[in-house]
Amino acid sequence: MNNVVKHRGHCRCGLVVMEASSTPDFAVYCHCDDCRRATGSPVLASVGFPKIDIAWTSNSTVSRYVNGTASRLFCSNCGSQIAQEHESRSDMTFFNTGFMDNPEAYPPTAHTFAGDQLSWLSLNDDLPRAEKTLLIDTQSNDGTRL
Ligand SMILES: [Zn+2]
Ligand SMILES: [Zn+2]
Repeated sequence: MNNVVKHRGHCRCGLVVMEASSTPDFAVYCHCDDCRRATGSPVLASVGFPKIDIAWTSNSTVSRYVNGTASRLFCSNCGSQIAQEHESRSDMTFFNTGFMDNPEAYPPTAHTFAGDQLSWLSLNDDLPRAEKTLLIDTQSNDGTRL
């Protein structure tokens, strides 16, 4: 593991802190219903890091909600949404961009579940738009949600 910390994130109350040493390789918007309900927001932006490069410097209050092949991490003290993990990419953790200390550093490169975007949400970009997930589920190839 590279010990140089390049990326840091923390929840609202500060009891959950993570640091990542690698370069993120996945940053997307997701318009799916599951992300919408989990976040309470019209769209989720997230950024993925390999688990092997993530150090949880404080995580005593991390809770996990499992829904099918996906689980979502949140702080049980302040309720902040933190990240999501998927069985199809069990080597990665996908952090909500708003959890990161410098969200400006992780501009999304695509939209997923673009067909589910709310009609009144205006995102003025030319990014690629996928109808399903961009994660490849090597086990069932059923479009695991992200
Ligand atoms: Zn917290
Ligand atoms: Zn989603």
